[in-house]
Amino acid sequence: MGKDLSFIIPCYNEVGNVEAIFTAIHDVFDPEKISTEIVMINDGSKDGTREKLKKLYRENSRSGLKIIDFSRNFGKEAALYAGLQHASGERICIIDADLQQRPEVALLMYRILDEYEEYDCVAAYQEKRHEGKVLGFFKNCFYRLINRMCDIDFIQGASDFRMFRRNMADAILSVKEYHRFSKGIFSWVGFETFFMPYEVQERASGTSKWNFFKLFKYAIDGIIGYSTVPLKISTVLGVLLSVFSVVYMIVLVIKTLILGIDVPGYVTTLGFVLLLGGIQLLILGILGEYMAKIYIQGKDRPVYIVKEVLGDSESEGNNNGREED
Ligand code: UDP
Ligand code: MG
Repeated sequence: MGKDLSFIIPCYNEVGNVEAIFTAIHDVFDPEKISTEIVMINDGSKDGTREKLKKLYRENSRSGLKIIDFSRNFGKEAALYAGLQHASGERICIIDADLQQRPEVALLMYRILDEYEEYDCVAAYQEKRHEGKVLGFFKNCFYRLINRMCDIDFIQGASDFRMFRRNMADAILSVKEYHRFSKGIFSWVGFETFFMPYEVQERASGTSKWNFFKLFKYAIDGIIGYSTVPLKISTVLGVLLSVFSVVYMIVLVIKTLILGIDVPGYVTTLGFVLLLGGIQLLILGILGEYMAKIYIQGKDRPVYIVKEVLGDSESEGNNNGREED
């Protein structure tokens, strides 16, 4: 029988946390008589998370624990997708393994969904952020930029920590793209979402896998994945530059007619050549980004490869993230 609630927990080098989060979830939900299923995805950890998860499974095989073991690190997005494919609960909660997001808050989300039929999703967003000014500034810029460029809304501070009903889970699963950007997918599928402020806790153990460059790449992927505005930059720049050159040409002709030919300004010429070269390379780069995405998607590779699944009898012969058509 399906459970009331499935937790999807992506784990990458979380050896010190997996048992704690498992226990914390049961401590919160068992007394409330809410039946839970916990789907933990080992995303190619290198620190013994795999062994720890297997041990946890052996000791708790009847508590609705499912373990999906990836053949290597495929990233959090792939792990979430795998988790969704294996989750069978009526509601689904995405939560990190590091206990920065508390199961108590998940219970609150559960109650909100109980109370308000009209909402299909409750998403937590951070009111106060424990991060540096520089990073905060770049995040601000990113959200302003992506919201201007895309038709769908991106809420600043919203995390992947959220709970939604089965209908929304099925909608997310129907999005089969290779380059998965959860923040975009959640917003793209629609449904009424309740945004709930919460405060992020310190990481229980281990370190964050994000650094500035990974975040930057993530931001670019988000923009490329949900907007075609960058492709139009070349058109706009082309028009602007053409208009400018015609005007400049006319000015030069008139100036030459009145004042005669003056000394050739090679600094200006060099400046223009370099500027134009730069702009052309930039545009080529943007085109390349889109082309690379088409190329990879065209190969139609699976989003992840599974080494082993524990606790899910239906997917013994797994299909590596490809849904049957
Ligand atoms: N994670 C993952 N695969 C990765 C990177 C991270 O499954 O390649 C998981 C990680 O184990 C954690 C969650 O994604 O449960 C969030 O990662 P992290 O805590 O590093 O991010 P932060 O909380 O700093 O945003
Ligand atoms: Mg974290």
